[in-house]
Amino acid sequence: MTQLNEALEGRITPAMQQVAQKEGVAPEFVRQGVADGTIVIPCNNRRAGMVPSGIGAGLRTKVSASVGLYGNSATIDAEVQKIRAAVSAGAESIMDLSVSGKIDFMRRQTLTATSTPVGTLPLYQAIAEAAVQRGSPLHMTVDDLFDVIERQAADGVDFLALHCGTTMGVVQRAKEEGRVDPLVSYGGSHLIGWMIHNQVENPLYKHYDRVLEIARKYDVTVSLADGMRPGCVADSLDGAQVHELVILGELVRRAREAGVQIMVKGPGHVPLNHIEATITLQKSLCKGAPYFVFGPVVTDIGAGYDHVSGAIGGAIAAWAGADLICYVTAAEHIGIPDVAQVREGVIAARIGAHAADLAKGLDGAAEWDLQLSRARKDLDWKGQIALSIDPERAGELRRERSGESSSACAMCGKYCAMKVVAQYLGASERSC
Ligand code: SF4
Repeated sequence: MTQLNEALEGRITPAMQQVAQKEGVAPEFVRQGVADGTIVIPCNNRRAGMVPSGIGAGLRTKVSASVGLYGNSATIDAEVQKIRAAVSAGAESIMDLSVSGKIDFMRRQTLTATSTPVGTLPLYQAIAEAAVQRGSPLHMTVDDLFDVIERQAADGVDFLALHCGTTMGVVQRAKEEGRVDPLVSYGGSHLIGWMIHNQVENPLYKHYDRVLEIARKYDVTVSLADGMRPGCVADSLDGAQVHELVILGELVRRAREAGVQIMVKGPGHVPLNHIEATITLQKSLCKGAPYFVFGPVVTDIGAGYDHVSGAIGGAIAAWAGADLICYVTAAEHIGIPDVAQVREGVIAARIGAHAADLAKGLDGAAEWDLQLSRARKDLDWKGQIALSIDPERAGELRRERSGESSSACAMCGKYCAMKVVAQYLGASERSC
């Protein structure tokens, strides 16, 4: 029985109980969300030692960080360090997107390095193995691809990102309409290259029942990835993107009928004025399935600062209903992030996620801000730092720029507004 089957039969599983407790909601709320498909709990039935996390409507907006082996200089140790940094900064999901090297070993290390849900994108490994074993990714067979999907599921991966909706029809539409950046999805571009070279339909679409069979066996959540993710704001909400989204809606329905939990992965580059429409379209076409958005970055010109662009997009997307934000790092579009950039990317995405939860009036979100504001008014530096989203950074800055012993900070010094207010309103600095 999958989590979805259990929910549909009215049973509250231990994973649903744990999610309810973490979120401060009733277990029945979580069960109903899973049954409706508006909440997913990625939790492979073979995964040992993981802490289930819920993603979806009525729950806190979550942040996911991606790591993985890319190129010759990547090492497993460095990627594991990034996982630890991401999780300690508050990432609640990790994607191992390794494209080269010892991919099986890396994935198993990832699964033991964190107790958060872990996702992978099996196509990356299938094309990497085809390049070595068959001389070219273009020679990958359908069975090669499904063997990797099953291998990753059997290892305990909690959610699998699969480009099931990138059909020949979608590719044709993109070709006819024209795009500024035709393809930016690494997996999508390899898949489309393979489809065009071999002149066959996307195997993940054609053999979707086979995908669902594996997902059901291990209770893996399917994350429908968008091959036509717009890679620049000019391509946002074009025909190819929306065509694929319509197909993803059909695949969401089939997954639910098969008892498989499903979420949808989204763009990409989205200008601010398209974010709400993008989320509304996805929620409508995919019948409320949780939406996992990549950022989105809201302008193409932020190279070096795309974590900022992503946090702006993530805040608005989550406010409009997105459920899981894939972080964007400062190295996006330029290179591979280091540990510090991974950490900073997670914090930036979390600020966006929390801003959205605050605006949505989610239980507990406003209380956090209120507590910090009170500590700020009281010039309670210990409290302010502890309540900051990144206490390590806030503490460092306090020590460096103001000195720990001063009651105000170096910004206004003796004209500190908090002190003045306390003096003139007749309250002590610590009690006002
Ligand atoms: S010195 Fe200025 S910035 Fe610093 S705590 Fe006082 S009012 Fe705030």
